[in-house]
Amino acid sequence: MNVQNSDPCCASDFMPQDELRKVQLTRLQKIVRHAYDNVEFFRNRMNENGVKPEDIKTLEDIQKLPFSKKIDLRDTYPFGLCAVPMSEVVRLHASSGTTGKPIVVAYTQDDLDVWAEVMKRGLAGCGLTRNDIVQVAYGYGLFTGGLGAHCGCEALGATVVPASVGNTQRQVMLMRDFGVNGICCTPSYFLHLIEQAKLSGIDMRDLPIRVGVFGAEPWSQGMREQLEKGAGIEAFDIYGLSEIIGPGVAIECTEHEGMHIFEDHFYPEIIDPDTGKVLPDGEFGELVLTTLSKYAMPMIRYRTRDLTRIIAEPCKCGRTIRRIDRISARSDDMFIIRGVNVFPSQIESALLTVPGVSANYLIILTTENGMDNIELNVEISPEVFSDQVKVLEDLQRKIVKAVESVIGLRIRIKLVAPQTIARSEGKAKRVLDQRQK
Ligand code: ADP
Ligand code: ZN
Repeated sequence: MNVQNSDPCCASDFMPQDELRKVQLTRLQKIVRHAYDNVEFFRNRMNENGVKPEDIKTLEDIQKLPFSKKIDLRDTYPFGLCAVPMSEVVRLHASSGTTGKPIVVAYTQDDLDVWAEVMKRGLAGCGLTRNDIVQVAYGYGLFTGGLGAHCGCEALGATVVPASVGNTQRQVMLMRDFGVNGICCTPSYFLHLIEQAKLSGIDMRDLPIRVGVFGAEPWSQGMREQLEKGAGIEAFDIYGLSEIIGPGVAIECTEHEGMHIFEDHFYPEIIDPDTGKVLPDGEFGELVLTTLSKYAMPMIRYRTRDLTRIIAEPCKCGRTIRRIDRISARSDDMFIIRGVNVFPSQIESALLTVPGVSANYLIILTTENGMDNIELNVEISPEVFSDQVKVLEDLQRKIVKAVESVIGLRIRIKLVAPQTIARSEGKAKRVLDQRQK
């Protein structure tokens, strides 16, 4: 689909690169000046590092600026990083608090317009149009997922069904009765929706739904296959975080080879997480983002702790904005077991290469006789569950092998009955840490 010609809103996705760099530089200079003049935290940090807004003469000069981190938002809780008077702030959100105390983010009306614009461009890139009905099954409220997707759908002109999370049977009923074509939610919640539909005798593949926009948590290629096959849809990965704006920082196009980052609003860098050194395009490291056009709470060189790489090669879709790779891991999620660094996403990728297992799993960490242990609980389908012991043992062996080949550790596997692992409505909780500290 040629979005460029069909909708002028998406023209920025196709801007010649030199023009885009000029836009970025102008916006960067303006936002750095704004942050310096209006936020004591940024002014102090820049002064300590001997850098002034007028030192930003090229895009590379961004490297002179100090990083900011989640702890800075916590330390200045709630409004210490606000760069405009409260009378200009029209909305507040807070991060879901996956990793501790919530942090607060603020938006001016212009900021909300930018957010709706990037979401609109993203949804259009997934092939959704004003003729579609889109169900938003991310949580509404302080979490940015619900309202972020909602305003993007409205900006697109689609018909939005603000279902929020929960009441799963009703979600399925709405999808069927309204003829919903697209859905925005976490991938783990959509898996749950497919299961629940089945339990009430509805095969999601028979419904008009054709597009799923999934994000807010890491998900593997194996998960994508389960969602696409289970519901007869095309699944798109969407990335974002509250500190930067919410969902809509980056999103896949129909090529599914990485997520286009809306570079005209969010400037990406990849750094070595240990040294802070900026890495060239293509190399894996920690994503650092600078908001180029968010005024209530600008973020300068924010360390996301999300690990990915920048894909600079042109995309077949023709968009000139660069892509980031699937978020391979969030460094907060990492756990160390017997001296080995393990990410839950590695376990998911390995697990789902084994045919016949579901993406409902739970990693349980325990201490036994002073030693750390991992036990992976995996739900299996009713058919497999009632199979002979030999079949189950064989499946267990395959999972152990698949996981060992990825993380280098032999872990214990427990196959559990269908519907015994708690389902999440938002971000799935994949790890239960019961180790003695
Ligand atoms: P919290 O930090 O409390 O989870 P957010 O709701 O703002 O707050 O979540 C943002 C984080 O969610 C990102 O930093 C990233 O780790 C994760 N995330 C968001 N989208 C994706 C995605 N598509 N793939 C992997 N991780 C994602
Ligand atoms: Zn593309």
